[in-house]
This record gives sequence, C-alpha cells and structure tokens, in this order.
Amino acid sequence: MRQVRRKTMDTAARDYLLKAKTEGLQLSWNKYEGMLPQDGFSQLGLSCHECLQGPCRLNPFRPEEISTVCGLGKDELAFAWLTRQASQKCELVASVTQMLAELRQKAIDGVITPDLLQSAAAKWSVSGESAVDLVTGLTLKFSELAYAQNQCKSNIMSYLKSLGAQQIKLVSFNADLAVVLYGQCKSQSRWVGLAVLKASAVNICLDGASPSLQASALELIDELKQEAIQQGASDGLNVVLAGDFSTAFDFNTACNAGTTEFAILTGLVDLYLIGESLGNGRIPAVGYHTVVASAVYTKEALREVFLKGIAAYAGRDLTKVKGSNQVESALAVGAIDPQWIKAQLDQGLVKGICVIGGGSNLKLTEDQASLELAKTLGLKNVLCLTYGNSAVTLAKYGYLNPKKQEAAPLISSVGGESDAGKILEVLEFAGAGNVLAVFPELTTARDLQMALALAQTGAKVFTGTPLPVAGSAKISEEIGKVIEYCGPKELVETVAKCFE
Ligand code: SF4
Repeated sequence: MRQVRRKTMDTAARDYLLKAKTEGLQLSWNKYEGMLPQDGFSQLGLSCHECLQGPCRLNPFRPEEISTVCGLGKDELAFAWLTRQASQKCELVASVTQMLAELRQKAIDGVITPDLLQSAAAKWSVSGESAVDLVTGLTLKFSELAYAQNQCKSNIMSYLKSLGAQQIKLVSFNADLAVVLYGQCKSQSRWVGLAVLKASAVNICLDGASPSLQASALELIDELKQEAIQQGASDGLNVVLAGDFSTAFDFNTACNAGTTEFAILTGLVDLYLIGESLGNGRIPAVGYHTVVASAVYTKEALREVFLKGIAAYAGRDLTKVKGSNQVESALAVGAIDPQWIKAQLDQGLVKGICVIGGGSNLKLTEDQASLELAKTLGLKNVLCLTYGNSAVTLAKYGYLNPKKQEAAPLISSVGGESDAGKILEVLEFAGAGNVLAVFPELTTARDLQMALALAQTGAKVFTGTPLPVAGSAKISEEIGKVIEYCGPKELVETVAKCFE
C-alpha cells in the first residue's frame, strides 16, 4: 500500500484536505505527487533553457556529454542556476522605483516627513539641502545598489555571497523607503490563523504585495466601506496577508505560504491578490466565488479590483463555507530591540543566535523542522531570530506569544519578508560571534539570497532542502562549505550540536 506522507504539521490541515478531496480539488500536494518523478537533469542542475537553442541538458551517465550546444559544462550549468537565483530582483526594483516616484512627488509637494527622510538619507550616506535633493540622492543610491559591479567570478562563493548580500541590501533600501512614505505602525501585535477571515466582512487576502499596494489597500478599507456594507458585509472590508507580516500596516495574517490554499477552502476569501512572482494557478479557486487577481500598480486600479472582491462577497456559496477557529496572537512581530540582544549576548544569558528563515516547501512535512528547531534551541538558551514566512509559521503555533511560555521559546521577530535586512543589521550591531542560520524549508530565490547574505557575515548556514547542484562535484563542494544540506531527520540535531 502506498504510504501516506504527512504533508504539514498544521492542525487545520486535516479538515481542509478532506474538504478538497470531497470537492475534487487538486491542491499543490496533489499536483506535486502527480508530476513525480521530477526532472532528474534539473534536480542535478544539469539543464538549461536560457536561450532558444535549448533546452539543453547534460547526462551525468554519459561521459562524452561534456558541454551543451553553447559550450556550458556541468560546473557552469550548476553555477548559472545559482547565479540566476542570487540575482533575482525584478519585483524589488519595481517596488523601489514606484516608491521613489511617490517620494519625489511628495518632496515636490512639500508633504514629506523631514525627519524620516533625513534619517533614511543618512543611513544610506546621502546628503542634500532640500527634500528634493535627498530624494535625488536616494535615487542615485538605488542605481548603485541595484546595478553594482560584482567582483570577478573566479572565487565562486565570494561572488555568490556578494550577489545575495546585494539583493538583501536592496530589500533594506525598499523597507527604509516604505518607512519614509508610510511610517511604522504603532502596534506590532497581530492575529495569525484562518480565523482572521470574517464571515461578515469582505475578506481580501494580499500575497506578495508591495508596500505601495498595501498602503493603497489600507486607504481603500475606509473609502469602500459603504460599498461593502451595501453588499451585506456588515464589517466592511477585512484586508489580511498571506505568508507574511507587515510592520508598517496593521494587517493580520491568515496563513503561512504553505497553507494559502486552506484560506480559499474556508469559502470566506472574496479577493485573493497575488504578487507577480507567484502563479495564479496556485490558488484553488475553481468552483469558489473567490476573485483571484494579479498585483496592480495604482490605487485606482486597485479600487477596481477591490470592487470586484466586494461584488464577489454577494456570490459566496454558503454551502462551501467552512470557517476555522485557528487563531493565535503574535506579539511584537517587528519590535526587535538590538540593545536587548546585545545585552543578552554580552552577559552570557544566551548561548548564541540562530536565524530561522525561509518559505514553506511541500516536499517536506511543512512547519515541522521550524517548530522542532525553535523548541530545541529554546531549551539550550539559544535566541532565535526570525522574519517573514518563517515568523508566520512559528506564530501560527503560538511561538510569538511570550504569554504562552511553554510554546514560546526564546524568539524575536524582525517583521516581514521586507524586513529581512534588519537581521543583518542586528547581527552587525550585536557583534554576535556564535551565529547560525537555518532555512528548514528553503524555497524561494529570496530565501537563497538571504542564506548567502548571512553566509557572507560569517554565519554557518544550514538548509533542509537540497540545492539542485549535485551534477557538478565542484559547485556542490563549494556551496556545501557555506550552505550545508541536512536531511529532515538530522537537521535539528546537527544544528543543536553546534551550540554545545
Ligand atoms: S545551455 Fe546554452 S544553448 Fe543551451 S539553452 Fe542554455 S544558453 Fe541556450
């Protein structure tokens, strides 16, 4: 009999997996299992589809196949994959460009908060007489950061680490611009879980949305409230996030990246707005009233999309609604205190720091390693720093609620995916010597970039997901020195041993 694999630790999973089965819906786990075995050449890093002469692949069992049509060998193919991942920044560049344009307009109109602008400018070594000068300086800084010349490729790992660090710097720059434009939300407490979706509100789920889009969404909650009420949604609009936290906006989070499909299966999501890098097909909305839309760039375009979500509310199929009582309080999702961390380290009150990051990867039992890691390291007095999807994952189980002492070991969250750079700043400030980073479910290009950026600080990095580079002995060996793969059974034990 085929063994049934445990897909996730999420306690809400059972009900929604059964619901999907009953409704004949294909979830991502079904799609993954349906396409097994995955392409072996790609898994080894020995395939390429970069140009129209391909796709090419090199067979590891045919020694005579030494190079592709254009002459790439096994090492070069594996290295090219890593380089592409470490360089990916399209969405970031779009987000920064949009915010700089907004900032320039505000500077011209004289409606910018000078203190915030000056503090961001000072951080990035930008000076100028007027607000417009400072914005011009920041724009030049952006070009420098986004299109920096990297060192030569002869030292493979130095090159990759600097590429990763470059993207995370851009993440920080993006976050700093967001603070200048939208400020920081006073409260850093959020609710996490499927129960943040309300029966009596138009529920709008933002997945991978830029700060500008989130700012427009916040304004539209008030502006479109009456339209929502007229459709029968007495609580108006309820905007929530998927797979992320926001430190700038007071949005609750419905799920981590691994359980977005369950949110749809509640039958309560009226609009699912999805970032560019994610496929709309991921959302199993067939047979549901949910409107699935791609991210838009102006508030007016967003208003149109929100109106579609409001209209969809009236079309909810009550026979498909299955709400959840899953909800946890996450306190201080972004209120990290570097001074406190430094004091803990200096006084020997914590043994070291472990950064826990990364996405949700359905090839593994989702959430399991993150939970075990946080628990195990807490018992060893190791401070865990987390952010983004990883923070949501831990929060879902009460790990960001210090009031739940048993479930909440020593964990500090810096905020969302866009706050990843703060981890590097904290490590630099605290001068932490004993630092490890673990990406139990390394999934996205940004995860890999953060792993490389952390490796550049000298931290040893572990991943629970093998990188597809095994077809090149040279690249495997090089990357293995800084990002070590451990199987699901060994990961937690191996990391814990490093703190003994
Ligand atoms: S290996 Fe070269 S020829 Fe083949 S797809 Fe890639 S870039 Fe094109």
